[in-house]
Amino acid sequence: MDSFQIKGKAYVKGEIIDCSILVEDERIKKISRLDFHNVKTLNINSDHLILPALIDLHVHFRDWNQEEKETIETGSLAALAGGVTTVLDMPNTIPPINSVELAKKRIEDFKRKSYVDFGIHCKPTPINEIDDVFKYVFALKFYEEDLPLIINYKNKILDKRVVVHAQFGLDEVAAVKYVLENLFDSSNLRFAHISRKESIDIIESYRRNNPNIFIEVTPHHMFLSYNKLKEKHKGYYSVRPPLATEEDNIKIINSINQGTIDFIVTDHAPHTKDEKLSENPPPGYPNLEILLPLCITYIKKGVLNFGKTIKCLTENPSEYLGIKKGKIEEGYYADFVIVDMKKNYKIDPSKFYSKSKFSPFEGFEVLGQPIITIIRGKIVYENGTFFLNNFISKEVKEIKF
Ligand SMILES: [Zn+2]
Repeated sequence: MDSFQIKGKAYVKGEIIDCSILVEDERIKKISRLDFHNVKTLNINSDHLILPALIDLHVHFRDWNQEEKETIETGSLAALAGGVTTVLDMPNTIPPINSVELAKKRIEDFKRKSYVDFGIHCKPTPINEIDDVFKYVFALKFYEEDLPLIINYKNKILDKRVVVHAQFGLDEVAAVKYVLENLFDSSNLRFAHISRKESIDIIESYRRNNPNIFIEVTPHHMFLSYNKLKEKHKGYYSVRPPLATEEDNIKIINSINQGTIDFIVTDHAPHTKDEKLSENPPPGYPNLEILLPLCITYIKKGVLNFGKTIKCLTENPSEYLGIKKGKIEEGYYADFVIVDMKKNYKIDPSKFYSKSKFSPFEGFEVLGQPIITIIRGKIVYENGTFFLNNFISKEVKEIKF
C-alpha cells in the first residue's frame, strides 16, 4: 500500500487551510490540521497552494489523421502540465467518431496512449445505434451540421446526455433558441463554449424550469474580444464561436461570479503554428497549459471570484461526470494541482508541451504556475519533468465511486 502525506496550504471545503492530507490507495484517506506519523511527507512551500486538479470537459486531442496537430499522448502531457487530470475528448477527429465501432477504437487508443483519465463524446450515430453507443461514450455532441437532426432524434435523446455546439453561421443566439425550443425538457443538456450575453440570458430563462441544462465557457471568450485582436493576423482571432465584444466578456465573468456558469473548459483545439499563420487559419487555440494561470491571474486582479471559479474548474465538472474527483475531501480521488501562487511570467507558447505552439495569449503576464500534478495519488508532473512509468489511464466510468 502506497501512502504518504502532503503538507501545506490547501483549498478544502471553501477555505484555504494549513493541513496534512493523507493519501492511500489512490484516494484521500484523511485530512487533519495535525501531522500524520510514520508516513512519507511531501512538504509544500508556503507560497504554494494545493488545489483539486482540474477536470476539462472539452478537449480535442486530434491524433489519427491529424497527428501533426496533437496526439492523445502530447495532449495529455499538456493537460498534466496545466494541472488537468481528467478530460472529455471531442469527436470531430478525422475520421469523425460517429459510430459504435469508432467510439470503441477511440477508447482503446486513449487507454493505450493517455496520461490522464478520460471520457469521450460521439457525433450522432444512426438513430438505431444510439442506445448501444452510450455503452461507450459519455455524451453525444451535435455540431452545427448536426443541429437539424435534433428534430428527428428528439425522442431518442431526451433522456441522454447531449452536448451542443450552438451556431448557425455566425449566429449563436438563434441556434441556442432552436436547441432549447426542441430540447427544453432534456434530462441532460450542455451548451458548449457559450460566448454571447444574450445566449446566457436565454438559457437562464429556460433553466428556471429545467435545472438539467448546463453552460460551459472558455478562457478566450472570458478574456479576449474581437476588437482587441482585429489588427493582428487572422490566426489570432480565428475560433468558433467567434470572439465577441468586451461586454460579452464581462457578462461571462459576472455570470461565473454569480454561479450561473457551470463549467470553465479549455476547448483545447490544437493546430500547428504554420496553419494558424496561413491565409486560411483553422479555428481554435491550445489552452490546456494556460487555463489555470489565466484564471488565477484574474482572481488576483479581483475580477474573478476565487471559490466560484475553482468550482467551475473542478467540483461542477466532477459532479457532471459523476466521479469522486474535484474536491479535497476524505474518500475522493487524490487528484491535485499544486500552484506557485507568486510565480510571475509571460505566456510563451514555444514552451508548450502541446504540439500546437501558438496562442492568442502569447506575451500575457500571468501570476500562478502549476508546478506539481498528482493523479490518483501518483505524482506525474513536477517542474517540467513527467513521471509516467506504470501509469494507466482510466475511463470516467471506471472511477465513479
Ligand atoms: Zn471544441
